[in-house]
Amino acid sequence: MSPEQFQHRVLTWFDQHGRKDLPWQQDLNPYRVWVSEIMLQQTQVSAVIPYFERFMGSFPTLGDLAAAPLDRVLAHWSGLGYYARARNLHKCAQVVVSTHGGALPESLEDLIALPGIGRSTAGAIASISMGLRAPILDGNVKRLLARLHRVAGWPGQTAVARELWQLAEQYTPATRGGDYTQAMMDLGATLCTRSNPRCGDCPLATHCQAHRHGDPQEFPGKKPRREKPVRSTIMLLLEHSGALFLQQRPPQGIWGGLWTPPQLDGGGEDEVRQWLGAQGLKIARLHPLPELRHTFTHFHLDISPLWVKLASVPAQVAEHSGSWYKLRQLNRPRAAQELGLPAPVVGLVRQLQTLASQTRG
Ligand code: SF4
Repeated sequence: MSPEQFQHRVLTWFDQHGRKDLPWQQDLNPYRVWVSEIMLQQTQVSAVIPYFERFMGSFPTLGDLAAAPLDRVLAHWSGLGYYARARNLHKCAQVVVSTHGGALPESLEDLIALPGIGRSTAGAIASISMGLRAPILDGNVKRLLARLHRVAGWPGQTAVARELWQLAEQYTPATRGGDYTQAMMDLGATLCTRSNPRCGDCPLATHCQAHRHGDPQEFPGKKPRREKPVRSTIMLLLEHSGALFLQQRPPQGIWGGLWTPPQLDGGGEDEVRQWLGAQGLKIARLHPLPELRHTFTHFHLDISPLWVKLASVPAQVAEHSGSWYKLRQLNRPRAAQELGLPAPVVGLVRQLQTLASQTRG
């Protein structure tokens, strides 16, 4: 399909079916379009409408937004999520006042240079409110173009994004750019939806490759899942007379500043015995508890808890500053929050108290 045919179909559909009564479409000035575009990132139209209206009621111009305290702007964003958007919006308004005389610049490059305005948002502002020829590629348009041409791969990958931008560029018309931008967003949001595309109503269906192959849901490709690496550790639950030895972790790194039992990364029972011997600790009994997995953002941690019942306790567990805590005390409500215990340690403390009381009984 030629770009002209494509544009004709899209614009004809928009004239008949596109949304034209959204609050930000009533006065298409750059400031209102910009705010709406930022609010619409990661948020549904229906959720944005009341926020947009309240926001415009309180900050009717870019100057009002720039002059407002950040806390007030954030309060207007409360519940919309992704608060970096509000911070950037506020910062951007101040930059526009100080460097562009209070009006959003009328060039794509200058718009993209502003905080929080990416290439697609700049394209939307420029085409909808300034009448410039500027392509957009938001989530809706990515999905539609990826399906139309069966563009394989995840759009987060540079090569895939480049291909989609080329298509977006090629199809963008020289005139009616604003209507075309809104039409593409609408087509993606209302017909070419993520899980249930209404191809029967789509003006592009006869030329859509994914529709022809019967696999629109396969496009765009999903983000490749990277397997998280697995680390393992032995957690030494040093227990004596119903008390557990805990150490505060350094402020940086995993569980920074929280309290955990000593850990040995790697090794087996021999290494454990060696370590305990080096601390001058006499073992009454070693008892492995079931292994558990805790998942951090970047890795899984497989924890092998080892209950070490001590025959006696030296004044200090050498080289390791820490404290003894009664299990009873650790199991009190809110103790975990007050002291700072990571979730797996809370579970182990509970388990240990049960076991220790059974053994005593
Ligand atoms: S035909 Fe279906 S998959 Fe293709 S663009 Fe239209 S709605 Fe999307």
